[in-house]
Amino acid sequence: MAESILVECLDCGQFSDYHPSETLCPYCGSEWRQAVYDFASLGQRLPELIAKRPFDMWRYRELLPIRNFNPSLAMGEGGTPLIHAPNLGLMLGCPNIYIKDERQGPTNSFKDRQAAIGIAALKEAGITEAVLASTGNVAIAYSAHAARAGIKLWAFVTSLVPAEKMREVAIYGTQVVKVTATYDQAKKLAAEFARQRGYYLERGPRTIPSVEGMKTIAYEIAEQLSAMEMALPGAQPSSTNGNNHTGQRQEEARRAPWRVPDWYFQAVSGGLGPLGVQKGFQELMAMGLTDRIPGMAIIQAEGCSPMVKAWEQGLEVAEPVLDPRTHIATLATGDPGRTYTLLRQRIQQAQRAAQGGEGLFAAVSDEETFRTIHILAKMEGISVEPAAAVAFAGLIRLVRAGKIKPSDVVVVNCTGHTLPVETSILGDGWARSVEIASGTAVQHSQEELLDTTPQEGLLSALNQVTAERFPRIAIVDDTPDARRLIRRILQSTGDYTIFEATDGRSAIELVRRELPDLIILDLMMPEVDGFTVLDELKSQVATASIPVIVVTAKSLTTDERRRLRGQIHSLMQKGEFMSDELLEEIQSASLLSNRT
Ligand SMILES: *Cc1c(COP(=O)(O)O)cnc(C)c1O
Ligand SMILES: [Zn+2]
Repeated sequence: MAESILVECLDCGQFSDYHPSETLCPYCGSEWRQAVYDFASLGQRLPELIAKRPFDMWRYRELLPIRNFNPSLAMGEGGTPLIHAPNLGLMLGCPNIYIKDERQGPTNSFKDRQAAIGIAALKEAGITEAVLASTGNVAIAYSAHAARAGIKLWAFVTSLVPAEKMREVAIYGTQVVKVTATYDQAKKLAAEFARQRGYYLERGPRTIPSVEGMKTIAYEIAEQLSAMEMALPGAQPSSTNGNNHTGQRQEEARRAPWRVPDWYFQAVSGGLGPLGVQKGFQELMAMGLTDRIPGMAIIQAEGCSPMVKAWEQGLEVAEPVLDPRTHIATLATGDPGRTYTLLRQRIQQAQRAAQGGEGLFAAVSDEETFRTIHILAKMEGISVEPAAAVAFAGLIRLVRAGKIKPSDVVVVNCTGHTLPVETSILGDGWARSVEIASGTAVQHSQEELLDTTPQEGLLSALNQVTAERFPRIAIVDDTPDARRLIRRILQSTGDYTIFEATDGRSAIELVRRELPDLIILDLMMPEVDGFTVLDELKSQVATASIPVIVVTAKSLTTDERRRLRGQIHSLMQKGEFMSDELLEEIQSASLLSNRT
């Protein structure tokens, strides 16, 4: 752990000692300061210092603002997995997407890092009472850690925070103060309360431990990416066969042993996260562990996106949003204050110094976000709260806008778990009930059961469940990857029954047998191609009216286009369409088929 902890004033540049309860620069009175360490020396020692420590955020304790590491406070914060997202990657055409799964912290959001170090610093300084304002997750994380450390906490939360989250805060023994106002107003109230009572106040980006907690995300990402690279064939120094490639890798590893992604994505409210993560990446460079800073992709909810607007207009100071209009309470910070200005300055500094680190700012709608929750859950098995989904919706949007290259390595901060927080995610009817009457009619024949009323047996009840007419879709394509992608897209948003055929001949048989509601057809297949399949199906009454969406990698000749005219519902170019475009086509096609 750091023996002497130095803080540098961002305004006058003077250094002073760090103590949690001293929040102002003793030279100029500024609240804006940052912790600094002996980076040159730590860069030499760090890899060896951490080699035998568990993979959690405390392994970087020499770079954290605590004097003595207190293991009895720790709950395994940090050390979250970096998970490859192959299906999302397939959908977006970007195979190198990784998810930093911050849901796996003790209270299921990345605020655990901030709270763990914040509370450890307070405990060390003998502070026993603290106040904060929160859009939800900061209060939950601090409450858990404060409870463990025996520190009394007051949490000011806006009435927009879902009741489930407020209850979670209260269960740890925190005093919850519900404020019917915006988050910015709740912050002012908390500050006034802390001032009057003389309590410690959590100040977000002006709180040294908060920024320091967030920076550990950058450290972990760099360590994890380098470990993954080491696992690639030919990367190990032991597998030397003298080829150039290996030599080059070794040379790179000597210069900068850890790796950074091309992009770091995060959903942003007040901006503490990206500010801390950016500092972490800068420190890794200062320690000689990495050789550049990743691009920062800052994603906000459209109804509260002061940073995005300011960035687009080239402003140094963001104009506050006085009346945030988003259902995503976690992201409703209307006034980012100096955090935005610092982020922007550091992005520009990194670029001037040719260190990488450019900025991308984008806003996404609540609708896009809610759709993305389903895509992520059904494609990758990762269920996130709306605030976290904003980052992924931003990724989808920026890939589509061509801002992210297919070869880019992207890390998305998956900031928080669904938990039971948002009742609106699933809407009504998220489960189906099956009632089993006494004397279940197992002895009845299937036909009898089908005729009976739903209450009269398990089988008929199940029949009722599955009898709903979910569109039945046939995918005809000879390439497994294309079939997998289309199946994934369908499964991510609806309850479709999916059939697959891998060549033209079996496609014709399949369609005749199953009579699907819709066919998604590839044109280029060996032997019996898509044109032939189409001709066959159109020549038979039973199959002639089934709508067909053609998906092709081929640019068609005028003659081929003429052959398709009037025969198909729509034509989509492979590699160019995105999931929602395909889904729109499917919806309009099934409407057609229902009418006929
Ligand atoms: C706090 C929070 C954010 C926003 O992070 P900031 O760094 O404060 O802008 C995003 N997602 C979740 C789940 C959060 O809890
Ligand atoms: Zn100063």
